[in-house]
Amino acid sequence: MFDFRLTGERIQDNRFDVVIIGGGPAGLSAAIYAGRARLKTLLLEKTATGGQITLTEYIENYPGFEEPILGTTLAEKMEKQAQRFGAKIHYAEVTSVKLKDDEKKIYISDENDNPITSRAVILAMGASPRKLRVSGEEEFTGKGVSYCGPCDAPLFKDKYVIVVGGGDTAIEESLFLTKFARRVSVVHRRNKLRATAILQERAMANPKIDFIFNSVVREIKGDAKVESVIIENLKEGKGKEVKCDGIFIFVGLEPETGLIKNEVECNDNGFVLTNEDMETNVKGVYAVGDIRAKSLRQVVTAVSDGAIAAMSAYKYITSNSPR
Ligand code: NAP
Repeated sequence: MFDFRLTGERIQDNRFDVVIIGGGPAGLSAAIYAGRARLKTLLLEKTATGGQITLTEYIENYPGFEEPILGTTLAEKMEKQAQRFGAKIHYAEVTSVKLKDDEKKIYISDENDNPITSRAVILAMGASPRKLRVSGEEEFTGKGVSYCGPCDAPLFKDKYVIVVGGGDTAIEESLFLTKFARRVSVVHRRNKLRATAILQERAMANPKIDFIFNSVVREIKGDAKVESVIIENLKEGKGKEVKCDGIFIFVGLEPETGLIKNEVECNDNGFVLTNEDMETNVKGVYAVGDIRAKSLRQVVTAVSDGAIAAMSAYKYITSNSPR
């Protein structure tokens, strides 16, 4: 008999119909749908549910919430909803997986010798902020280099900060930073932003934000903390040192595929390949949300992926004989 600790309860065996790895919106939506389908469902999350939405302040484009909702509040609501339909949520780090057989095995940090087994697995590990990979970045992380506006912006009250990137995250977080910082300069490698038009309009109209286009940050300098950055203008090929108090880096996402690189097929950028039913190339294994190769990464597309994957898993499980 297997006995491991779930949040708030103990359950007596380690066999599930569906195991969902990752508790962002995609994983939580899969848990809601799998729970409602009365599949025995376990969601494993290593830190806190919510994923990327907990790194942003407000979400204003998730249908049904006419006023912006805090990312953390939305995650909490989804978690409660999944539990209401019977999904179990367990906080543990998955250390390895074996997905190719019919009986999938999932090893977690607190029960390393006894794998959890499941008939279907939904991969929802998401993505994490891409690094700039310049000198000083690692050294000054937490000392002026940040990848999270809501976490660190209050530390920069009345300060001057650099933001790197031109996508939705960079522009949204620049706007958020202006609540604290005295001035925000957005350094973008092209002369055209990638961000959604409404965010661009807001940033352009914000007197605290200016733009340094056709430019990249080549180096981050300081002593105990960030004091300046070297910005190179790509058109002129010239670098200059700019004094600043901090640098926020928002240059895209890298998929969290360390666990499953050799288990399922990924594209050249490392994102998991699926068909429109969220099936990977391995039977009974699905991928959802930011970890998946897709064109639009939004909460609304993540939750859609989760619903589709849970229903695909349901069909797969019910069309294969029960164990
Ligand atoms: P993204 O859309 O991939 O944008 C990354 C930005 O960083 C781009 O402007 C890119 O430049 C730049 N960049 C990439 N590598 C760079 C490097 N090495 N040096 C300098 N600049 C570099 O990433 P994101 O903004 O993090 O967004 C990720 C996904 O989440 C997107 O699908 C986005 O739409 C979504 N998202 C949505 C919302 C929202 O709806 N409110 C909020 C946040 C994120 P180029 O433009 O030249 O490629």
